[in-house]
Amino acid sequence: MEKIIIIGSGPAGLTAAIYAARANLAPLLFEGFQSGGMPGGQLMITTVVENYPGFPKGIGGQELMAAMRLQALEYGTRINTEDVESVDFSRKPFSVTVGSGTYDAYSIIVATGATARRLPLDSEQRLWNKGISACAVCDGGLPIFRNKELAVIGGGDSAIEEALHLTQFASKVYLIHRRDQLRASQILQTRAQHHPKMEILYNKVVEEFLGETVLSGIRLLDTVTNTATTIAIAGAFEAIGHVPNTSFLSNQLKIDSLGYIVTTPGATTTSVDGIFAAGDVQDGKYRQAIAAAGSGCMAALEAEHWLSTHAHI
Ligand code: FAD
Repeated sequence: MEKIIIIGSGPAGLTAAIYAARANLAPLLFEGFQSGGMPGGQLMITTVVENYPGFPKGIGGQELMAAMRLQALEYGTRINTEDVESVDFSRKPFSVTVGSGTYDAYSIIVATGATARRLPLDSEQRLWNKGISACAVCDGGLPIFRNKELAVIGGGDSAIEEALHLTQFASKVYLIHRRDQLRASQILQTRAQHHPKMEILYNKVVEEFLGETVLSGIRLLDTVTNTATTIAIAGAFEAIGHVPNTSFLSNQLKIDSLGYIVTTPGATTTSVDGIFAAGDVQDGKYRQAIAAAGSGCMAALEAEHWLSTHAHI
């Protein structure tokens, strides 16, 4: 019987593990294998992280995650490289099933993150991290994007917020949307439409990202006139949504309309007593590593308190 099982090995899961291990809870962490990304989470697919405190010159995403993993191991976390396939939260103790068997635990922290939707284009794969990113807040301030013309692809609130964020660094920001109207809230639409550095291109889909070694432009197809245009840009930011990694839960936790686990405001408790959620899987708003790590800390402290009040430790 485990005191605590943690599912996920991004900043949220590993921070929870560090706290739980230091509280002598001997956590068992399933770091995943191929479901919902890769062990280490979303930062494994980025180059440099410049906004994680403690690294004045930035740190490589993989290097940061390797250090967090080592720190979790150092204090006694047991890490199992498997995907959680299903869970049973209908009875106590809870159970978690992976390929090698089923494990029981008094408490569980779900930290399985979210997957950024990406455009299914070969040119996108080729130029990923070479001018194409899925996170303007994370990467928009990098020197390669400063004072350059950039594009954001999408039409919802996140797309406009990301585009507005980029106007601080870019000489111009195109917002490329496949429909004739944006989906974002009216207030954001108005800000985008009146921003002197922004131009909204409606009814346009991305046909191809252009460039040999780095992104240099984008070819768009007009869905009404069926004509193609090319614009020169140094950066493209996809803001076409995220999918929280919750399918293995089979609706056993309360989920919101966008698929995020519902947690109590200001806490990590979920609709099932004894189950906690941390990181992007319950945060459709901030989606940043430090926020994920912070909520991982909260989840571990709340789980520790819950275990002690239920006489499991
Ligand atoms: P994730 O990092 O998504 O990790 C989820 C983990 O769960 C993974 O280890 C996965 O393997 C595991 N998992 C999923 N399903 C299962 C399962 N069924 N069983 C077991 N394990 C499972 N943020 C910043 O602060 N700064 C940046 O510079 C920055 N750059 C970014 C660049 C890109 C391209 C992207 C996509 C994101 C970036 N972010 C950045 C955002 C940041 O990566 C996320 O906010 C953060 O990683 C969320 O952490 P998490 O622990 O909640 O989830």
